[in-house]
Amino acid sequence: MPLTGKNYIAGEPSAEGAEVFYSVDPRSKTTDALPFHNATQNEVDRAVVAAAAAFQEIRGYPSGKIADLLDEVAAQVEALGDDLLHTADRETGLGLPRLTGERARATGQIRAFAGLLREGAYLRAIINTEQPGQPAIKQMQFPVGPVAIFAASNFPFAFAVPGGDTASALAAGCPVVVKAHPGHPATSELFAQAISAAAAAAGFPAGTFSMLQGNGIDVGQWLVAHDAIEAVGFTGSLRGGRAIYDAASRRPRPIPVYAEMGSVNPVVITQAALAARADEIADGLVGSVTLGTGQFCTNPGLILLEDSAATRDFITAVAEKMEAAPAGVLLNEAIAAGLDSAVGQTAAHAQIEVLTGAEAVSDGDFFCYRNTVMQTTAAAIREDERLQIEHFGPVTLFVVCEDGDDLRGAVDSLEGNLTSTVHAEEAELESIGGLLHQLREKAGRVIWNGFPTGVAVVHAMQHGGPYPATTAPGTTSVGMNAIYRFMRPIAFQNVPDALLPPALQDANPLGILRLVDDVYTAEAI
Ligand code: NAP
Repeated sequence: MPLTGKNYIAGEPSAEGAEVFYSVDPRSKTTDALPFHNATQNEVDRAVVAAAAAFQEIRGYPSGKIADLLDEVAAQVEALGDDLLHTADRETGLGLPRLTGERARATGQIRAFAGLLREGAYLRAIINTEQPGQPAIKQMQFPVGPVAIFAASNFPFAFAVPGGDTASALAAGCPVVVKAHPGHPATSELFAQAISAAAAAAGFPAGTFSMLQGNGIDVGQWLVAHDAIEAVGFTGSLRGGRAIYDAASRRPRPIPVYAEMGSVNPVVITQAALAARADEIADGLVGSVTLGTGQFCTNPGLILLEDSAATRDFITAVAEKMEAAPAGVLLNEAIAAGLDSAVGQTAAHAQIEVLTGAEAVSDGDFFCYRNTVMQTTAAAIREDERLQIEHFGPVTLFVVCEDGDDLRGAVDSLEGNLTSTVHAEEAELESIGGLLHQLREKAGRVIWNGFPTGVAVVHAMQHGGPYPATTAPGTTSVGMNAIYRFMRPIAFQNVPDALLPPALQDANPLGILRLVDDVYTAEAI
């Protein structure tokens, strides 16, 4: 289908408003001719009302029917073919190899949710049978209702219109209204066409999915404020996520916001690790900081070491490698401006030394920033939380600590992060435990002798962390557990078997694993 520049509301293109914006190629800074229409408040309302109507139907659908929808979505996304890859490459500059991989990740996670639904235990059926003095209590998870999703700029597939937030919300049985990211509107429209077609092919009501375009905060604010929205998924900046969280809290009926925001992903490198493999760690670190031009929420942005000659040599080597590495393309003008402003603020700090970079490449054809390495002290980190801001790009900050106590003091002062990492040696296993668990308190994922970029989509993954990494540290936005952001448990007390959902009926007609009187079993009662 040709691109229209319109919103997709319950399967239909719609362009009620006069405000438009354009897709920009970050490599050439040229603007495409097709205007994309900002959704109006009426269009936001139509999308949410259609989602609420759809929920009345799909809340009763069996898991298998929802799994069929997810498989159809994955197939329709693949059917977009190379046109999708070239469109996204033109809008993001991420390159075809990365985008090909990201498409596989996006369709893979959609199909993984289909598998989760067919297996069935995700419903978390828990049964306590009637006992003397205790009624029968039976609990399982139910979808919450219409969900608003904010697509991310830096993952145009895997965290955007068909991304993990949308996949997990649909898997939960919730209709979805996506606010597309204005950095890649054409890519977003292709996905909207694909998902709308999938909903129709799978026999779902059209309101199951809508996509709204917008290059200002109005569309998102209207969406979050709409009374029929029950939960919000968001990936982006701390400022944006916090604004949406606050907007949701101000509603007469507040709703949960699952916002994944900024993170500096601290990495601690011990002296023993440096002695054993300084070159290897330097190469890995530079690769991780510059991957995707540093535009990952898991970018290692804060590196803590004790002061020594080896530490100083290591920092010099990393700075040289960063300087030698080619400067990559940034996603869009706003990201480039945000990076310039964030690094500028940090570099101006009295306790910061710039070792390389810290300036925009302004004469280039594309949005670009020099690979940047800065250095500071543990005392500065402890005393000024502004040194913990995310620099969203190829930037890292070394924290040189006087000794082990100074380093642990710096770790103690860290804010919440998505990840924390330790590079250490086997011989240190007994002595490093305290520090590892100190880092555990600061993050959702702890990494041993690796780098934080690269997030596996598996059951055990935790992609979340204490604020300001997220607004809901008990949840994850990657992996199968992401579905529970959009479900809630309901317990039934003494309700007759015939009125219960199949997952809770005594005969266990779904044959799923359940926790019955404190024992996991797939047997009937
Ligand atoms: P963003 O500015 O947070 O925007 C993300 C989405 O939220 C966009 O659709 C945006 O709409 C919307 N939004 C922002 N502020 C809002 C508000 N006050 N009310 C309602 N909606 C609002 O993120 P971005 O554009 O992707 O990138 C900007 C910065 O975010 C980056 O420089 C980087 O620092 C950070 N970032 C972090 C991650 C991460 O995973 N941690 C990922 C991407 C970006 P409009 O654009 O239409 O205004």
